[in-house]
Amino acid sequence: MINIYNHKIIELKIQKKKLKFKKKKNRNKKKYYTCSMIPYPSGKLHIGHLRNYIINDILFRYYNMKKYNTLMFMSWDSFGLPAENAAINYNITPYKWIKKNIKYMKKQILNFDLSINWKKEFSTCKKEYYKWNQWLFLLMFKKKLIYIKKKYVNWDPKDNTVLANEQIINGRGWRSNIKVKKKKIRMYYINILKYANELLFYLKKYLLKWPNKIKIMQKNWIGKNIVYNIIFNIHKKNNYKNIFNIKIKNIYLINFINFFLINKNNYIYKNIYKNKIKKYFNRNIFFNKIYLKNPLFNNKIEILYILNKYNKKNKNLFYINKNKKFIKKNYLLFKNNIIKDKLYFYSKYNNLKKIFLKNIIFYNLKKKKLCNLKTKFKLHNWGISRQRYWGTPIPLLNCYKCKNIFYKKKILILPKNLIPNGYINPLKNNKKFLKTKCFKCKNFIKKETDTMDTFVDSSWYFIKYIFISNNFFLFNKYFMPINKYIGGIEHSILHLLYSRFFTKVIRDLKLININEPFLNLLIQGIVLNNTYYILSNKNNKKIYINCNKIIIKNKNIIKKNIIIGKIQKMSKSKKNGINPQYYINKYGIDIIKLFIIFSSPIEKKLIWKHKNIKGCKNFLFNLWNFYNLNKNKFKIYFFKKNKKKIIYYYKLNKFFKKINNNYKEINYNTIVSYFMKILNIFKKKIKNNIKFNTILIKITLIFFKLLYPIIPYIIRELWSKLNFNKFYNNIENINWPNISNFKNNKIKIIVQVNGKFKFIFKTIKNTNLNLIKKKITNNKKIKYYINNKKNIKKIIFIKNKILNFII
Ligand SMILES: [Zn+2]
Repeated sequence: MINIYNHKIIELKIQKKKLKFKKKKNRNKKKYYTCSMIPYPSGKLHIGHLRNYIINDILFRYYNMKKYNTLMFMSWDSFGLPAENAAINYNITPYKWIKKNIKYMKKQILNFDLSINWKKEFSTCKKEYYKWNQWLFLLMFKKKLIYIKKKYVNWDPKDNTVLANEQIINGRGWRSNIKVKKKKIRMYYINILKYANELLFYLKKYLLKWPNKIKIMQKNWIGKNIVYNIIFNIHKKNNYKNIFNIKIKNIYLINFINFFLINKNNYIYKNIYKNKIKKYFNRNIFFNKIYLKNPLFNNKIEILYILNKYNKKNKNLFYINKNKKFIKKNYLLFKNNIIKDKLYFYSKYNNLKKIFLKNIIFYNLKKKKLCNLKTKFKLHNWGISRQRYWGTPIPLLNCYKCKNIFYKKKILILPKNLIPNGYINPLKNNKKFLKTKCFKCKNFIKKETDTMDTFVDSSWYFIKYIFISNNFFLFNKYFMPINKYIGGIEHSILHLLYSRFFTKVIRDLKLININEPFLNLLIQGIVLNNTYYILSNKNNKKIYINCNKIIIKNKNIIKKNIIIGKIQKMSKSKKNGINPQYYINKYGIDIIKLFIIFSSPIEKKLIWKHKNIKGCKNFLFNLWNFYNLNKNKFKIYFFKKNKKKIIYYYKLNKFFKKINNNYKEINYNTIVSYFMKILNIFKKKIKNNIKFNTILIKITLIFFKLLYPIIPYIIRELWSKLNFNKFYNNIENINWPNISNFKNNKIKIIVQVNGKFKFIFKTIKNTNLNLIKKKITNNKKIKYYINNKKNIKKIIFIKNKILNFII
């Protein structure tokens, strides 16, 4: 009787045997450090998390089999607003909420049989972690990389906190949806601008394996702009103040200017034009016969005044000169002192490249002392203090008497037992936390109650995983930088930028000797699903229905009135996030893993489709059944201890090669279809082909090794079922097959009699004469040409090519 595939039995059996991690790493080996972006313990694991960790796990197993030193870790980014807001809602401490969530999510992850080394797990809200935030903060503060400044900031009145520009959507807070106010407060800033040029440089020169779109996003975020400050003189002698500074981004444009357009915000207008407008062309455009001198060619540049409501599309503008075309192509809008320059130009320098032109013009003007350069960045210095409770306390105090700012003890511990109310930072009312003595002047003073932005926590955590001890900021440098960093597109700007910045700071503190933390990025696609809704009777609004409660039979939804909506990103508001636990209980981890890998390329979006799960389920059942039906053939093989060289089955080689290459390229989705093809070949061949049976063991070995990183549970079970454990190593310790070595070593030998071609004989390359002679003289064909072996007078043999019988 055949034993039916039951994932529950297999998974339970293997979960009991826990994976052991080798403590000592061999430094002579290569390393491969993959890291998944640290999750926020929001409560439940979603499919996006699972997709990330599965990719990481496959990479880990693959490189482990290739005998690299590999690492996989998991931790929790547990400070921040969501926990504090949840605490306000449930009237508990944020710590309690976090602790519960971590416990649940860890339990979920433990079910997935991932290669995580849990010994290195940490939670950023614990002092063992955040003391290092404080330590780095103080080092940066002493180096003047962190400074204090009073500034107007974006203030969210509901969350009572500062918002960064990117956290404001249409003037409202991204989380609270309340209108953002401006408020002047005292803040701590990190001088990230000091590293702006370097961050750009390495983006271009070093991070060659990063996806291009991410590099463009980072580049635009830093937004380096070189602005030329050019001095223009008034053309004719007159009474007006005769020098104007004009800032222009593309200096080559001054080569083309015939006139400027200005409006009332412009200082030329304020200084000269006001009340002196004499003529006008039409209702919107005025002139006063004031000309500037083009510093390059000394030609006249006319200044035209336009009303603020002037619209670029206003055609009237272009009829003010006889030479219509010329004018049309040669104006610059000189608004708010910065010239907008989205124009088209003719020029005598037309054949020169912009960059040359820029340099020539800049050089000429600089010589005349009419131009200087200014570099500007879109990037601002990073305001890292938050007026909230749930974060790393800023380890400073303010003694107004002796101006001392330092706190004496090494760690400033955050009390875990406070319940925030949403109105005031509870640290401000906590006397035990607040009061301290200035160790210099001995006066009682208050500590700082601001905490750090949680982006600080996630900017260096990947180094914490490889710490050697918790008492020193010392880590295993051998593992840095990270070979593959896996995460979502939503972190492609700030988190990556801050991590890159922190790595450079840590380098400059002489604690690390690398410039960039992530050699390679893998940005996984989002996960989508159908949405389901009913229309409300009152206002016809969509009311979304939890997709996990929808039952579909024959493409029809069983309950009436439910409408199938668009396929959308899984989200709470659309109620279309599926519960991974449900599917894992129902189908087992291997099938779900296979499905997630098979459904789409990693960088592309993944649509949750039930019918694709079925395909994966069929493959696993077929695999299981095939080896269970044929396991006796393996027993016979081992029993005979057949020492004969097994001829390798070359037809499979092209599949093996493709799988091998796709592992290298991380094209996991295409690998699965080759697995399916190989299994189908096995099933066809095994029926009547006895020869095939003898080679099945050899190709099964390769097949299992290739399958193992993706579906480890079932392969481990089959491996031991077929007794591979006894004759080979455990699958966990087995090497990756060296596919490229399996070359086709069959050759064709031309058989001649007295120098005349008779037939072709196939054999293995480099077979020696004696063996070939034996084989061929027993061949029926040769007996036809040579009646008796004794007739052979001489044999001429050219290795791997010709065998000539002289009779
Ligand atoms: Zn003092």
